[in-house]
Amino acid sequence: MAAPGGSLKIAAMTTSSSSQNAAGASALPRIAVLATGGTIAGSAPDAANTAGYQAGVIGVAQLLAAVPGLDAVAQIHAEEVASVDSKDMSFALWATLAQRVNALLASDDIDGVVITHGTDTLEETAYLLHLTVKSAKPVILTAAMRPASALSADGPLNLLNAVTVAASGQAGGQGVLVAFNNRMHCARDVAKISTYAVDAFQSPEIGALGWVQDGRVDFQRRALRPHTLDTPFAVVDETAAQWPQVEIVTSYAGVSRIAVDALVSAGVRGIVVAGTGNGSIHATLQQALADAAAQGVAVVRASRVGSGHVMHNGAAKDDALGFISAGTLSPYKARVLLMLALATGSTQKDALQRVFDTY
Ligand code: ASP
Repeated sequence: MAAPGGSLKIAAMTTSSSSQNAAGASALPRIAVLATGGTIAGSAPDAANTAGYQAGVIGVAQLLAAVPGLDAVAQIHAEEVASVDSKDMSFALWATLAQRVNALLASDDIDGVVITHGTDTLEETAYLLHLTVKSAKPVILTAAMRPASALSADGPLNLLNAVTVAASGQAGGQGVLVAFNNRMHCARDVAKISTYAVDAFQSPEIGALGWVQDGRVDFQRRALRPHTLDTPFAVVDETAAQWPQVEIVTSYAGVSRIAVDALVSAGVRGIVVAGTGNGSIHATLQQALADAAAQGVAVVRASRVGSGHVMHNGAAKDDALGFISAGTLSPYKARVLLMLALATGSTQKDALQRVFDTY
């Protein structure tokens, strides 16, 4: 596995279409497949092994070769952007990926992008790109729960389905989507909800956007919140200014204020709290966070529950305490949005609450 964010490999290739004549291939949509690693590119010594394996070791050419029929769906331009276990996702790799996606989509030679990714932080990368890609062309993330070497590996079908969605002509203008286990999800809504199951992604409360199965793409609804071209957010580089320090703390029985006080002393710009229930916070932690907010730290109230929304000015009096409510965003996605918002220079509480109410 490559060091997190380090030594990124860029290797481009375009698949030759052995099963098609040149005229047929040139009529197909041109889809860039960007590989970043993960279990989809994982390998274990034993085909029965679905947990003890190394992520991100299979090259993009091998990933594509495992998908029969791909050549009939799209002309593929493949790049290996990285080969990381996505638990080690870094700002540097996020910046590289966002820049590469934007550059490819700006080209008249590319009709859409598919990104293969680890499942662990897929939802964070998807939401980051949803807010920062500047194109109406489709961007689809996919992944796998079983390594490429496993019996019943789920990666090849997920990859075929992701390319099918990207090439369908139906996914443009919908922001970043996640194609996984026959479903299509909006990047804002999707979450990994199982540590092991093949059906590991859901959009809690809201549901998937639709299905992709047997070559058919069936959208049932569209995401309503602004994204991509309609946001002020951009990923420029991996410098500290681009990524204001935002950390996450959790509320639980007997929690102390040690973590919050340490974060404030360390100079963080923002803290997201994964509260209990409807973003409620233990009185000890709430006082520490109110003190942090009074010192100019942006404090966002989310929930550790995993579904539902956090109401502004509910039981926790956000305005009086200086907090922002995350609405339906998970703590991890709230952190992504808060970093991007702080990077635009927005620091005032009401302005940040409008950002959370909008995106
Ligand atoms: N640890 C792996 C990753 O996120 C898990 C996976 O891809 O399913 O890269």
